Amino acid sequence: MISGLSSRKVFVRVDFNVPINKDGIITDDTRIVKSLPTIQKLINEKAKIILLSHLGRPLKDLQEDGSINLKKYSLEPVAKRLSEIIAVPVYFAKDCGGSDSIEKISNLKDGEIVLLENTRFKKQEEKGDPDWAKELAGLAEYYINDAFGAAHREHATTATIARFFDPSHKSFGILMEAELDNAARVIKHPKRPLTAIVGGAKVSDKIDLLKNLTGFCNDIIIGGGMAYTFLAARGISIGLSICESDKLELARSILSLAEQQHCNIHLPVDSICADRFANDANILTTESEHIPDQYMALDIGTKSIERFTDVIRNSKTIIWNGPMGVFEMPNFEKGTSVIANVVADTTQQKGAFSLIGGGDSVAAINKFGLAEKVSFVSTGGGAMLELLEGKILPGVAAIKN
Ligand code: AMP
Repeated sequence: MISGLSSRKVFVRVDFNVPINKDGIITDDTRIVKSLPTIQKLINEKAKIILLSHLGRPLKDLQEDGSINLKKYSLEPVAKRLSEIIAVPVYFAKDCGGSDSIEKISNLKDGEIVLLENTRFKKQEEKGDPDWAKELAGLAEYYINDAFGAAHREHATTATIARFFDPSHKSFGILMEAELDNAARVIKHPKRPLTAIVGGAKVSDKIDLLKNLTGFCNDIIIGGGMAYTFLAARGISIGLSICESDKLELARSILSLAEQQHCNIHLPVDSICADRFANDANILTTESEHIPDQYMALDIGTKSIERFTDVIRNSKTIIWNGPMGVFEMPNFEKGTSVIANVVADTTQQKGAFSLIGGGDSVAAINKFGLAEKVSFVSTGGGAMLELLEGKILPGVAAIKN
């Protein structure tokens, strides 16, 4: 990250898109905490820190009279929480780039912080509007992007604004650097064997991911609901299990692509099935070939766990995206929980590098209390997914170019 910013006005685009309940209370401040290293470094350097962030999608959820729901979408409680955590006052500007922002920025002393109101209160943000981005850029001398969670968006404050700073006046923040370095470690120079564990509900969400992974992974373990579309593509009858019948051809093409690229695909050989999508449904474990017509597979079975465990234990690099079953229900959490423990053990005991990339696998790793036992837990669901899909993130390109 850029340094030597004493007395300089510095924009820091952070991802403070935290959950806030109906009483205006922040229920999980992980994203605020993750941005602290960059903010603390700038405080130590005595920079004038101007924080930018979005929160939710306020313009898609206007109140009946057409106004913005401030209780739900204002960043004011975030400014308060941040100041409690870092024990430094955090000023709050009631607009993003308007007269209050200009006044609060001009009053900033060295080492002080102002958080501007939700960037998405402006319709120009999601449009990536260059005129607004340029106007905003005029309020600071440097731009630091630490919002990995929003780096896949080509928005005004995540990408466009960076065009108005020359290369010596812009950089990634500490969190963003860590995310990109850890992604490069698995994508560009992995220790092999490299195994990807992919799960979740649908194949359709992970097509680009799977296609790209076949090009550089030695093994791909497929679990979760999406595995059953693959089994169906192999002509196996899967009962009421989740199946995207319009994706069968695509699943076959991914299987043959993997074969051509010498990437081994591992599918569940047995499953825990239920007669309803409910924790208290009637349950039975069957070979994947023998799922009864009136049952749906909601978790991987013991033999699958054993096979997947063997593959993971032999890996030196592990990528995990998506749960192995409906882990939110206790009766179908075992596959995800055991695999999470195997990933953690392989990291701790055998020195493998493990990256937990995105959404529900992060929720799973947290649920089982293993976040400290894997190598890296990404903060950016969509952004990490796009990196693993081989895409260039607009927020990254804007800093590099
Ligand atoms: P995704 O957002 O695509 O990663 O999907 C995560 C969701 O997939 C979780 O809410 C899981 O409950 C769900 N899921 C995992 N396995 C299955 C399954 N076998 N059948 C239905 N849903 C599943």
